[in-house]
Amino acid sequence: MEHHVNETGIRIPAWAERVADSLGAGPHVVVSGISVSGNIHAGNLREVLVAEAVANALRQRGEKVRFIFHADTIDPLRKIAPGIPQSYEEYIGHSLSHIPDPEGCHVSYAEHFLVPFEEALREMEMDIEVLRSHDLYERGVYTGVTSEAIEHTEELRGILQDVTNRKMPEHWSPYLPRASSGKLTGMRVLEHLPEQSSVVFADEDGWEDSADYSRGEGKLGWRVELAARWKALGVTFEPFGKDHTSRGGSTDTADRMAREVFHFPVPGRYEYEWIGLKGRGDMSSSRGIVLLPKDLLEIMPPDAVRRIILGRDPARRFDIDLEGGFPRFMDEYRAEAGEPYVPFAHLVTVAQTVGEDVDAAARMLRRGGYGEATRDMDKLAQDLRYARNWAGEWAPESMRLGLLAPAASQEAASRLDDEQRAYLREVSARLGAEMDGDTVQDVLYTTAIERGLKPKRAFAAVYRVLLGKSSGPKAGPFIAGLTLDQVTERFSL
Ligand SMILES: [Zn+2]
Repeated sequence: MEHHVNETGIRIPAWAERVADSLGAGPHVVVSGISVSGNIHAGNLREVLVAEAVANALRQRGEKVRFIFHADTIDPLRKIAPGIPQSYEEYIGHSLSHIPDPEGCHVSYAEHFLVPFEEALREMEMDIEVLRSHDLYERGVYTGVTSEAIEHTEELRGILQDVTNRKMPEHWSPYLPRASSGKLTGMRVLEHLPEQSSVVFADEDGWEDSADYSRGEGKLGWRVELAARWKALGVTFEPFGKDHTSRGGSTDTADRMAREVFHFPVPGRYEYEWIGLKGRGDMSSSRGIVLLPKDLLEIMPPDAVRRIILGRDPARRFDIDLEGGFPRFMDEYRAEAGEPYVPFAHLVTVAQTVGEDVDAAARMLRRGGYGEATRDMDKLAQDLRYARNWAGEWAPESMRLGLLAPAASQEAASRLDDEQRAYLREVSARLGAEMDGDTVQDVLYTTAIERGLKPKRAFAAVYRVLLGKSSGPKAGPFIAGLTLDQVTERFSL
């Protein structure tokens, strides 16, 4: 990947530098806005990472940058996401921040989905401010722009009709007051009282009520809010996915609203493409194709997550391969990061062989010729965890290993012929505790040749009694990583 590394060691991809170059002088406010109506998946993370890369490029240029994650917590629930009880139908139209957590573990529905994402951002050590829209409304951050929007209701309606080619309802208002039922949708705004920063409205049953928009008693409709938010937060850059930038989409309406109603310059933009999961399709909470950032952080370090999610160019569609292609991705990542090289596939073998025993892993790596990787034992422990988690969750069957228990090994051996059993007995007698991988490999091979046994059948016997498979990782280093007892116990047939 084309990139530069700045003084703090942060990698700035070339595309992000180009985007930053196209933005004017600062100070800059870089924002990424995401709905919290369901799981915030790795596809959503792509948007935040695009924004982060541009924010870093601006910082590198010496600009002052405020980097914001705007969580749409006040938005009304629109539909029931997969896994949410049907009884939640009653909350449709209510603010996500005002709906109970479906699993009861957080203070609201919004927090249930937002908190795990926030934790992932923290784990990635992202220099980002997380803002909750319900809190911004309650603190009065949107009071000015809300008043302005209501005053310009007719112009906003005109823009919406023009751009979307849809006729807006007669009583359309840019503002959605919250009724005493908790519902935001379906109210009719009757009067604006700018001095009291409130509106009078008729609720679902026609009863009159009022809402104070300086205290979060309602919100702007989503399309108007987008433009209003740019002004209220002073946004200078925001990335968007193609769902927003299509013709007649929310950026088309927001651009005109910003220029014609709010008199605020349209922020710089970057259109990113979606990512999919190889073999499963585009990521989508509503279709249940969900890969969470924390799933990724279980199998690779944060900077590898950045690399795999952004890809070479986030303007292009890309399928993440967490299965067969993943070891190669990790090898490329480590090589680029200048880390001591151990092929990821080998780490996966080691991790599955030694379990949680880091010292045993270090011995196995030293014997395999990867001693450099054992200098930082904390890092090694972490890398082994990544490898083990990957093996458990994503590895193709051919890479999944488990040393057979002695009884299962006996059972597997009963399917070998006499020649193969005799071969294993002889290998067992020749092996020594301090042999390294190459030496063991040599013993395995020469013993087969001397006995007139075809190497293919010899090695098949080895894999059969150790792993219950007909093939596996390179046998010499694998056996060298086991204790001599573990091997002789299974070879002395
Ligand atoms: Zn929860």
